[in-house]
Amino acid sequence: MRLTIWGAFGSIVSPDRDKWRYGGNTACLEITHGDGRLVVDAGIGLVPFGDTLSRFPLGKGKGVLHLAFSHLHWDHIQGLPFFVPAFIPGNEFHFYGTDRHLLEECVEKLFRSTFSPVNGADKLGARIAYHELAGPADISGLAVRCAPLRHPDGATAFRIEAGGRAIVLAFDHEAGDDSFDRPLRELASGADVLVHDAQYDPADYPAHEGWGHSTWRDAVETALAARVKTLVLFHHDPDRSDAGLDEFGRKASAAAAGHGLEVLVARDRMVLDL
Ligand SMILES: [Zn+2]
Ligand SMILES: [Zn+2]
Repeated sequence: MRLTIWGAFGSIVSPDRDKWRYGGNTACLEITHGDGRLVVDAGIGLVPFGDTLSRFPLGKGKGVLHLAFSHLHWDHIQGLPFFVPAFIPGNEFHFYGTDRHLLEECVEKLFRSTFSPVNGADKLGARIAYHELAGPADISGLAVRCAPLRHPDGATAFRIEAGGRAIVLAFDHEAGDDSFDRPLRELASGADVLVHDAQYDPADYPAHEGWGHSTWRDAVETALAARVKTLVLFHHDPDRSDAGLDEFGRKASAAAAGHGLEVLVARDRMVLDL
């Protein structure tokens, strides 16, 4: 399996000079295994991903894209109106969400004339089919399971398995309520990679309680409890600089030291092969 992170930041795009090492695009991840591919979330990271596809079937109107949404906040959908393969006739898109009708309504709105010159998702080149992700599913040869996350209006965690490996994506999520944390630990149990919300430092958190995001310490504790091999700190605060993210990595690695847990800090275009 291969995990590519196209957008590692949350909230808003932040292309500032002090963040060039980590990037600044909002959430988008691509998971591939053989010919199978699942993209999770359509933040602005979806745009550079789309730009790499020109030589491939999705760049020629002969491709199929499977895209699952953790939830529909702006930083997880804002890349869609600028995703080049959407405008190429012949492409076939399959969109997955825990509420199929809400997902369809949201995408329809994104392409209405108020927001987009396309004036309707039905005018796009690509045809879109919407699917409800209720239970375990096989998507493009990848086995997918879900769990609900603690976030304003809800979000969904995904466990994606293929070839004997497992990647778990858990954002946007505010740790601290066991009715959500326990199912997440079960979903992440023994995973090779856990990509976890780590927007805050524990010192920042009290001012942001209820905002729906975790600290790097929450991410480490969840990874240790679930016995995952590699933790990827994700959904960076747009105000966090490269130096601030380096510091998060150092602190989280120190907290994980001696427990056999590797800690990485997500950055745009990071690739993990497992
Ligand atoms: Zn977010
Ligand atoms: Zn959110």
